[in-house]
Amino acid sequence: MGKIILNKVNKSFGATQVIPGIDLAIEDGEFVVFVGPSGCGKSTLLRLIAGLEDTTSGTIEIDGKDVTSAAPAKRGLAMVFQSYALYPHMTVKNNIAFPLKMAKTDPAIIEKKVTEAARVLNLTNYLERRPGQLSGGQRQRVAIGRAIVREPSAFLFDEPLSNLDAALRGTMRLEISELHHQLKTTMIYVTHDQVEAMTMADKIVVLNAGNIEQVGSPMDLYNRPANLFVAGFIGSPR
Ligand code: ADP
Ligand code: MG
Repeated sequence: MGKIILNKVNKSFGATQVIPGIDLAIEDGEFVVFVGPSGCGKSTLLRLIAGLEDTTSGTIEIDGKDVTSAAPAKRGLAMVFQSYALYPHMTVKNNIAFPLKMAKTDPAIIEKKVTEAARVLNLTNYLERRPGQLSGGQRQRVAIGRAIVREPSAFLFDEPLSNLDAALRGTMRLEISELHHQLKTTMIYVTHDQVEAMTMADKIVVLNAGNIEQVGSPMDLYNRPANLFVAGFIGSPR
């Protein structure tokens, strides 16, 4: 579970074409990073996969099913929003449990899933706190916990670390990589930060003005950049 295929996906806002037509296959369990300069269409592409935007043309498949017209909730994916999307008046426990409560999940199952997510994220001792009583990194972990309890077939991250300071970004980078090792679930991670891309990805998708310039492992991109854009962006010696 967690294989995602884009077929000639095109997105225009009015007369402006943002994604001219992308083919891409994301394998089950891969950590895929969409990287590229601000405004190149990373968020739009992620939102198309999540179902938060409709494609103008083309199709999207998840685990063999055409989800092009499916509502976000029907896609089995979880988008991790930045930590400021937490509910300040709710405890950590209730923030994490929120999607399950909305889905009217059995309370005993909620308890079990929240306990397990808290264990994986080292939040066990913070469940009764409110977001205001947590560090930035802990808040980001709560936001991830809210995605974990839904047991998605893929996690979608849109620049989740961009409002953290540099030291914390480094720590969270490692934590998210470690989480991927533990869960082995497909993750798509959007960033404009080359270091995040090169250190976290199994596969990097380099975007430029809505086009894919190259898809490859960090080593591929470093050793064999497809063109000067990739070389310049990744900082490889070409
Ligand atoms: P990135 O995430 O790579 O910074 P975005 O996907 O947010 O880029 O945006 C890509 C382009 O699409 C930008 O030129 C942006 O202005 C435009 N865009 C994004 N969303 C909308 C929208 N809802 N309406 C019109 N233009 C949009
Ligand atoms: Mg963006």
